[in-house]
Amino acid sequence: MRRVSILGATGSVGQNTIDLIARAPGEYEVVALTGASNIAQLAEDARRLNAQVAVTADAARLEDLRAALAGSGVQAAAGQAALEEAASRPADWVMSAIVGAAGLKPGLCALEQGAVLALANKESLVCAGALILSTARRHDTHLLPVDSEHSAVFQGLVGEDMATVERIIITASGGAFRDWPLEALEHATLAEASSHPNWDMGQRITIDSASMFNKALELIETKEYFGVRPDQIETVIHPESLIHAIVGFVDGGLMAHVGPPDMRHAIGYALHYPERRDLPVARLDLPQIAQLTFREPDLRRYPALRLARAVMERGGLSGAVFNAAKERALDAFIAGHIGFLEMAEIVEEVLTRFDAETGRIDAEMTLDNVMQTDHLARERADQVMAERAG
Ligand code: NAD
Ligand code: MG
Repeated sequence: MRRVSILGATGSVGQNTIDLIARAPGEYEVVALTGASNIAQLAEDARRLNAQVAVTADAARLEDLRAALAGSGVQAAAGQAALEEAASRPADWVMSAIVGAAGLKPGLCALEQGAVLALANKESLVCAGALILSTARRHDTHLLPVDSEHSAVFQGLVGEDMATVERIIITASGGAFRDWPLEALEHATLAEASSHPNWDMGQRITIDSASMFNKALELIETKEYFGVRPDQIETVIHPESLIHAIVGFVDGGLMAHVGPPDMRHAIGYALHYPERRDLPVARLDLPQIAQLTFREPDLRRYPALRLARAVMERGGLSGAVFNAAKERALDAFIAGHIGFLEMAEIVEEVLTRFDAETGRIDAEMTLDNVMQTDHLARERADQVMAERAG
């Protein structure tokens, strides 16, 4: 039996992963499931899958989790140290599906015990790409991309020589506001930003799709994961979300990955890799779809894409600053403290000031330096927001 763990099991990617694993109960031994506030879901899944341990990141919820698991034989644990301990338990395959920079350390723990890391948590690569890739190499294991675009690129590269890759085109739905007049964006509400035209995902990534901060993270993720130059990475708006990415080769050929917008495809590919297996996703009816369309992204509508370019060019720890500032700005938008367009303005200001004032961007990429940079960039984002409010 394959030993598997799911970090962020109660989220959107986590639940899709559980859906696939629960369909083949005899094939998997579930080691750890982790969550945060949704104790009922965590306990229900841990019981159903007979996990060794269930962990909530929220230390204050330990008693609730214990009560929900009473009599099940599943161990209950809580807090950051417990999360890292669970990620460090021997497993063959670990799904990294915590949202935000909080997923970095547990993902590294999983690699350090030698697991293959199925990576949905794009923030890990954005904050610490070189660190996570070198950790995998040092422990003789590897990452598998789960973000749909990166899974698509990965599949397009099977059997190919990286030296023949000319460009990677990452598609974007354009998010909730792609057809809104520019003037209206300023007043976009939380509810409006929290619904995606094509994908059903967690709230944070859905808002990031509307602002294209999600695509910005994905461009940086592409550079880190595939080791290509920033100028080889392109973005195109593709409202149907059926082509997930395209790889362009030196002979002019383009390999596009087409599939339904269902995360179980990318998760299933990573779960069964290098095999392909039957997956419970819809089969596309091309005549019914009739057409696939593309448009150039407007950088005035999506300033996050311009910022991603700056981060890719700057390198070093600028990805950690970018992500941390984005997370704080998103927290503030969700809390109703700032407007939709202010998120990008704040991130840009933090990036500029952090670079000019700290000299930390060029520090060595160690876990400590990344975590400290993340912390300082969050503080700076709060400071920028306080100044703007006052
Ligand atoms: P989600 O919000 O639905 O779930 C997040 C999970 O992380 C939950 O299990 C939650 O309990 C846990 N969590 C939240 N904060 C935590 C913390 N501080 N410490 C430990 N655990 C914490 O998110 P999601 O949409 O499933 O996305 C997860 C990751 O996958 C993100 O990095 C996202 O960008 C990426 N991703 C998601 C999708 C998607 O379809 N949802 C697609 C591609 C990539
Ligand atoms: Mg994606």
